Amino acid sequence: MELTVIGAGPAYTDRRGAASSSYLVRSGDAALLLDLGQGAFANLAATLEPSGLTAVIVSHLHPDHFVDLVPLRHYLTWEFKPARRVRVVGPRCLGDRLDALNGQPNFAAVALDVEALVEGRQRVGPFEVEARLVAHTSESYAFRVTGSPELTRSRATSNGPMPGLVYSGDCGKAEDLLPLIHPGDTLLSEASFGAGPVAPGAQHITSGEAARIATTGHAARLLLTHVLSGYSRDAALASARAGFSGPVQLVTEGDRFEI
Ligand SMILES: [Zn+2]
Repeated sequence: MELTVIGAGPAYTDRRGAASSSYLVRSGDAALLLDLGQGAFANLAATLEPSGLTAVIVSHLHPDHFVDLVPLRHYLTWEFKPARRVRVVGPRCLGDRLDALNGQPNFAAVALDVEALVEGRQRVGPFEVEARLVAHTSESYAFRVTGSPELTRSRATSNGPMPGLVYSGDCGKAEDLLPLIHPGDTLLSEASFGAGPVAPGAQHITSGEAARIATTGHAARLLLTHVLSGYSRDAALASARAGFSGPVQLVTEGDRFEI
């Protein structure tokens, strides 16, 4: 299973060329996209044929996590006759939000098969996706993704656990991620306010909190992302490295990782 960072940006940034949240997980020919925030469609289309996506899963309904479903919808509609379709799984009302953006009923449904996300484990193509509600908005999810057993087993120890990718989405309480983290997993965590402090009223975790939960969950690796401009990336890394003894990286667009 391979992770490609399509967008590592936050709600706003001054980092040139940055796109907001979007992470591509591939296993064999299957491609699962986690979130599709502003500016991410271009990076996605430069990486693979978007109509070939197995599915897009949306963590929550903040625009920096889903708004580039609009260019995906336009692309599928106007590049192909008939329009191609992509499965999209997300919080309730995602389809309504997209329709409202364009002031047009059934705007999304022209090319997107939008389904409601629920907590628990589900099969998405060859992937197993476990979704868990986390503190952030009234309906925000974090995910654990594992690849097809056949492909993933080949990389695991003979009878050891299959490594997974845990993606925090946006998360206001680090402990909410713990049930998803299995020993040996990669934790891809937001750290919107870097090393902190988190702005009053904002539901996010710091890089230090991400590190603490990675340690508690015996993660193998910590990947930090979603850091706002104005918050030191070096301080975010230093704080995480102080709290987690495994490899830590602050990811950027185009980074690839074997999970
Ligand atoms: Zn958010």
